[in-house]
Amino acid sequence: MSENKNHSAQRMNIEAAKRIVGTVRTTLGPMGMDKMMVDGGGNVIVTNDGATILRELDSAHPAAKMIVEVSKMQEANCHDGTTSSVVLAGQLLANAEALFDKGLHPNVINKGYIHAMNESRAFLDSFSAPLNKEALTDIARTAITGKSLEASEEQVAQLCVDTINAVGDVGKVRMLAAPGGSLSDSYLFSGVVVNKDLLGQEDIAESSPVLLLNSGLEEEQQKANMQVQVDATSYSSVKNADRQHLLDAAKKVVAAKPKVVFVRDGVHDTVVSYLRKAGIAVCRRLPESTMKRLSSELGAEIYHSPEDDMVCQLGEIERREYNDVVYLFVAGEQGGEATLVLFGATQSTLDEVQRGFDDALGVVSLVANGDSTVYGGGVAYLMTAMHLRENASTIGGRAQMAIESFADALESIPGTIAENAGHDALDTILAMRHAGGAMGPDVENGGIVCMKELGVREPKSLVRSAITSATEVATAILRIDDVIGRRGE
Ligand code: ADP
Ligand code: MG
Repeated sequence: MSENKNHSAQRMNIEAAKRIVGTVRTTLGPMGMDKMMVDGGGNVIVTNDGATILRELDSAHPAAKMIVEVSKMQEANCHDGTTSSVVLAGQLLANAEALFDKGLHPNVINKGYIHAMNESRAFLDSFSAPLNKEALTDIARTAITGKSLEASEEQVAQLCVDTINAVGDVGKVRMLAAPGGSLSDSYLFSGVVVNKDLLGQEDIAESSPVLLLNSGLEEEQQKANMQVQVDATSYSSVKNADRQHLLDAAKKVVAAKPKVVFVRDGVHDTVVSYLRKAGIAVCRRLPESTMKRLSSELGAEIYHSPEDDMVCQLGEIERREYNDVVYLFVAGEQGGEATLVLFGATQSTLDEVQRGFDDALGVVSLVANGDSTVYGGGVAYLMTAMHLRENASTIGGRAQMAIESFADALESIPGTIAENAGHDALDTILAMRHAGGAMGPDVENGGIVCMKELGVREPKSLVRSAITSATEVATAILRIDDVIGRRGE
């Protein structure tokens, strides 16, 4: 056992963690900057999204990788708040280092941190602002401030709210990003967009019977590839049997009287032309996820392979062309699926637009599904910190020092937001503590301003989850007292 009074393993890990946190720190808040990342092949990503930056970062240090995990955890839980969670984890670690210097053992620090985390969660849970539908646009607007979406802020916020109102949950929303055009042309389509064209049949009537098939309209791969020694006559009889089989399948499709057939697998060209003669268009080789969405939108069964008495469902199918690519827009009677059609100048700006939408849809979805809201700009973190300090004094001893350090770390959120806007972090924190209430950093003018009046709000669980994931990872890093190389597998 290497008993190390200086905690050198921890210090080394903290250094690595702080370095990686430093790369995303300056992106936090409405005045945060973007990062440009370039890989060996010269591919460029420009983003403001903490999780994306960390995912793309090429960091080999194990502690740095654990920090990347924080942002992934936060993204999976809430879609937004990734930079905050990472900045918080970094600050918890930096403050732990200062506590080592004062003679605190990592175990004591961890105990204090975990106590503080639980206390913070309980404190946040005691808030329960009732759901206010108007708050939804504030929530969306807060999530996109400082992002590339800000140019069309009002419209984007409204689009996010409409989308979640239409489908209920962010998990049901898909995005179609079409390069060319302007962000302000983006719209919500209630239905499924298939990015393939139809074979046969140029014009589709507004409402057409649709059939969904998993497979069964091509020659069986195995047979086609099988290497067997057969004479010419038995080979052609195998071939003919195959043809006959395909023809039977095609006849079953025709009997169901669809206008359009969506197929998961391939469709043999002879079948395509056979169906075309019967006035049936085919869309083949669709991803399974698209088939499932079509099924739920249309309320249609997916047949494993053609069978007798298949039933079609009506769907409105429209071909729309963006930037020389044809898409099929499919809306069914059952409904419930939604696709956001997003426009942007280039693929890379569109990628960032999509990340912004993902954040905003995520937070709106949380609140629409019952999460309460807190003031943004780091106000909720600061209020939690003030509560923790009151609570710490009743505990006393060394644990109290760790809890106070935890509270300081929470205040680094409003501090960093102010700092990234070119204002003084400490002055802002002191002014916020003094004023209390909804006063948060005034990023435009410096000093403080009322977050309630500005409509800067975020879901409570965003803050709760950032605190939880940051603490879990920081304490995990503090528990490591030795880093040992291990044999590669
Ligand atoms: P994250 O990845 O953590 O979401 P962001 O760069 O999106 O990082 O910044 C989010 C922070 O910015 C939140 O704390 C949010 O409340 C705050 N914020 C958003 N708009 C404003 C504003 N107008 N004034 C002050 N803070 C704001
Ligand atoms: Mg954000």
